[in-house]
Amino acid sequence: MPLALPGIGVSKGTAIGRARVLQRGQIEVLEYALPSTRIEEEVERFLRALHTARQQLRSIRARIPSGTPDEIASFIDTHVLMLEDATLTSGPIEYIRTRQCNAEWALKLQQDALVKVFDAMDDSYLRTRRDDVEHVVSRVQHILLSNDAHHEPFAEDSEGPRIFFATDIPPSDLLLLHHQGIAALVTERGGPLSHTAILARSLGIPAIVGVQRAYQYIVDDELVVVDGAQGVLLANLDETELAYYRRRQADEKRLRSGLRRLKDRPAVTLDGVKIALRANIELTEDIDAMRQTGAEGVGLYRTEFLYMNRAEPPDEEEQFQIFRQTQRRLRGQPLTIRTLDLGADKEPLSATAGSQNPALGLRGIRFCLKEPELFRGQLRAILRASAYGPVRLLLPMLTDLSEVRQTRRLLLECLGQLEQEGKRFDPHLQFGGMIEVPAAAVCADGFARHLDFLSIGTNDLIQYTLATDRIDEKVNHLYNPLHPGVLRLIRTILQAGRSAAIPVSMCGEMAGDPDLTRLLLGLGLTEFSMPPAAVLEVKQVITQTNVSLLSRRVTRLLRCVHPEEVIEQLDRLNRET
Ligand code: PEP
Ligand code: MG
Repeated sequence: MPLALPGIGVSKGTAIGRARVLQRGQIEVLEYALPSTRIEEEVERFLRALHTARQQLRSIRARIPSGTPDEIASFIDTHVLMLEDATLTSGPIEYIRTRQCNAEWALKLQQDALVKVFDAMDDSYLRTRRDDVEHVVSRVQHILLSNDAHHEPFAEDSEGPRIFFATDIPPSDLLLLHHQGIAALVTERGGPLSHTAILARSLGIPAIVGVQRAYQYIVDDELVVVDGAQGVLLANLDETELAYYRRRQADEKRLRSGLRRLKDRPAVTLDGVKIALRANIELTEDIDAMRQTGAEGVGLYRTEFLYMNRAEPPDEEEQFQIFRQTQRRLRGQPLTIRTLDLGADKEPLSATAGSQNPALGLRGIRFCLKEPELFRGQLRAILRASAYGPVRLLLPMLTDLSEVRQTRRLLLECLGQLEQEGKRFDPHLQFGGMIEVPAAAVCADGFARHLDFLSIGTNDLIQYTLATDRIDEKVNHLYNPLHPGVLRLIRTILQAGRSAAIPVSMCGEMAGDPDLTRLLLGLGLTEFSMPPAAVLEVKQVITQTNVSLLSRRVTRLLRCVHPEEVIEQLDRLNRET
């Protein structure tokens, strides 16, 4: 009887290989008291472990193969920086001295304190930083416990493809395993937004997270199959079943090499409709990944990452320089800069700390309008960057037209100042807004009359429409992009754009899901923005689609009220040639 263990598929692909069960991440740390004469010695031991951890990471970094996306090096840099940060270095030393305890315990206390802070945050990106803390701490704990300065986490293994099982694994270790030819990764913990998941996707390693009790069922060396697309781990398969998965692997290989050939092909449907495919980026370095896909510029630049992990926000000049550099890398392609989408939860030092319900609190444009000085600096930086190439300004979380009016007023003030200072800018800078609040979607016609373009933020639109927290695991199953309520709102926004003759793009995750591409094309979407890794697959669907044949089927799908009917209609839509 085959055994199927469900999890969350975070990186697609099929892998067949022998299980390799790692114990990493399962460290039991105990407290023991030290005599006062041994305290400074313990501090020294802790500092040596930090030093070793940094050396390990630097050596991993030096072995990154060329062509690996920049984000991978930056994951490791982040971990090196954390090992140098006072929060992780001084805190435990303080504990060793005040509690007179061992370094492992002191580090654990500091980790618990940090994890508590991250857990209280209502932001998915920041939550992934918690994983970073855990990964870095785990590395140092292993060094402390093993006392082995040359410790390499995994022994080389030459016997064919290996599927690794771990409670959790840091991105740097995944990179090491990649060098050793890891076939797939299965973890008990983690989520689709963790850095390890992002890394697995960019390295093309099939991965499933959240597989409960895998350790209980899988033993070392057992032959297993990972179905990354479905998020299922399979064991105990007979020859016929294994043959099926081998065929699937071969199909996927063919598909991947076919996709790479699409890079320089225009995204045009079979009936000649030109579709704009742009990239969502968080860092300037993401442009390199974007370039490998042939995407035409940036449809969403999330600027809040410039404000995170630092005590003081970046000033106008710093932001201007970063925007300029990003733009330079784009070589004339458009750069859509979204203004700061922080909220009380993401900026605990702000005046908004302690919000009862941060997702409904002072976030996005609301926060910026409450902090006009901060906002002005960013607006001026964006305006100044617009003098050097096509820049579009995008406002997040619009609910009310008064937010557009107030921002426009601030923008005009900034324009006047810049003119007086003799600084250049594009007076025709495109001014757009994200539609991600249901009220704004219903009233999209009003926004369309006052803005140059709209962008649909489905990640938030779904969460607010369905009253389902986008990062709460307990209600994950209710977070449904295909809910008729969501689809009808998207249709309303697209119609508003058409009536006002302004472009409407989509930059939420829906835009990068190839299973939804035809549906979105049928709804009339012609501008998509998505993570670079999704571009080629979406382009492939576009080039195989005849838009003129979709509209009747999509109208029928939109009339469905039962979730099963919607799925059935979508299946038909995707199967049609
Ligand atoms: C969205 O909400 O769809 C979106 C793109 O913005 P973010 O995910 O940054 O909230
Ligand atoms: Mg959003």
